[in-house]
Amino acid sequence: MSTQPVLPQGVSAAEFARAIAAFRKVVGDEFVITASDRLLPYRKIMIPADENEFAPSGVVAPASVEEVQGVLAVCNQFKVPVWPISTGRNFGYGSASPATRGQMILDLKRMNRILEVDPVLCTALVEPGVTYQQLHDYLRERDIPLWLDFPGPGPIVSPVGNTLERGGGNTPYGDHFGNACGMEVVLANGQVLRTGMGSIPNSTSWQVFKYGYGPYLDGIFTQSNFGIVTKLGMWLMPKPAGYTTVMVTYDDPEQIGVAVDTIRPLRIDTTIQNVGVMANEAIVLTGMKRRADLYQGAGAVPQDLMLSEVRKMGLGAWNVFFTLYGTDKQIAPNLEIVTEAFSKSGGKVIPGIHDGSQVNELSLSSFSLLNWVGGGGLYWFAPVSPARGTDAIRQMHLARSILADHGMDYLSAPTLNGRDLHHLVAMVFDRNDPDASKRAKACYGKLVTEFGKQGYGLYRVAIDYMDQMAQIYGKTNRDVNRSIKRALDPNGILAPGKSGIHL
Ligand code: ADP
Repeated sequence: MSTQPVLPQGVSAAEFARAIAAFRKVVGDEFVITASDRLLPYRKIMIPADENEFAPSGVVAPASVEEVQGVLAVCNQFKVPVWPISTGRNFGYGSASPATRGQMILDLKRMNRILEVDPVLCTALVEPGVTYQQLHDYLRERDIPLWLDFPGPGPIVSPVGNTLERGGGNTPYGDHFGNACGMEVVLANGQVLRTGMGSIPNSTSWQVFKYGYGPYLDGIFTQSNFGIVTKLGMWLMPKPAGYTTVMVTYDDPEQIGVAVDTIRPLRIDTTIQNVGVMANEAIVLTGMKRRADLYQGAGAVPQDLMLSEVRKMGLGAWNVFFTLYGTDKQIAPNLEIVTEAFSKSGGKVIPGIHDGSQVNELSLSSFSLLNWVGGGGLYWFAPVSPARGTDAIRQMHLARSILADHGMDYLSAPTLNGRDLHHLVAMVFDRNDPDASKRAKACYGKLVTEFGKQGYGLYRVAIDYMDQMAQIYGKTNRDVNRSIKRALDPNGILAPGKSGIHL
């Protein structure tokens, strides 16, 4: 690797050196990184793209809001862009890497205070570097009976990063942005905005009422490059009296249709309260087997082979997992309702299953997905589907056939949000194998395009397809985003290219 710094676009080596000196003055020498060996962890990505295309110019790690303001002043002066990260995991979407080459990574992990937990109102206020594990430990150590909702890699990622990406988990609080309340945002010009009720001096209600007065602004700071979020309010779920996790298995892949048509009304009327998941035969196998033990031929693993494997374990082509929460008295009638509905639809209902992600148990077990092929490659393809059987069947066939054309398996786990499914598809591949990486990359592009043609879009996208995704969402959408960008960040110093938004 070259030891020459990757210069931000349009910035000379001499100017960049001045900017670095200025960053050092703001945060201290130790917290500005330009040495290529120390940048390596920030460059490591799992998506099948060339790291060099997304190489950062360096890292600057402020410890306070004042230091963030100081960093942004330097950025404006020298026209050096910064890409904010909270814990910088963003696995399968680009990890810590910026969407374009030549940005300073603004690493916020030193800002990791849990500022407040209110056990009465069930709220928390956290900084970007706080991890779910840290918050979990905090609650446990203080015996505060509140639960967390977290994404797959839970322990090591941050509520702030995940919420800003509009990520999700599997409890009733699975919509993270939906359960966020109040942000503190440092704007490109250094102004500090507290959203909602937080704008009132001595606010009493920042974490309890989202909307405040006038336009509700929080949404524009998610999946965007309009500001740096330095504090986030969260709503937390009171620990329930009890719970019963239920699995429903369906033998035939086509039964995704009846499964979805059964789940939807139960989710919308809140008989099922949580964001359950529907795992297909292939993704359940990843937790137990390696691909090579099952199949060494060319192309995707034949589905029949996988189906016969899962059947031996009492699992199906689709395996629905959800949880009923409450006292025994509350759970009993709901269990009766769901048992009847799912049985009628042809599913086999098995109550009393364990699924830690639905009951506040943090673990790293979701990483077992990567052992399917080894080599650490991961892309998440995550189209939104209406929660209708016909759409689910159509998306399943479309995804499966495009993946198969590229020799990839359909590892699918749609999340059950109510009116929509996030049709999560894990694309795992050996990142050390150039052919496998090339196929994965082409496959993702084809999936994005073909789903777009059918009127389906992704809820979140990897850094190397952000521009393409923005094309699919259309010109007016891009124009509005660009107008906001120009108004709030006239020098374009915040995360150029994020969500396809450029100056
Ligand atoms: P996590 O480690 O929790 O998975 P990241 O820290 O990687 O999440 O953040 C995911 C993405 O969200 C980043 O790539 C960036 O685009 C955006 N982001 C993260 N933190 C902030 C922040 N504090 N302010 C603005 N955008 C952020």
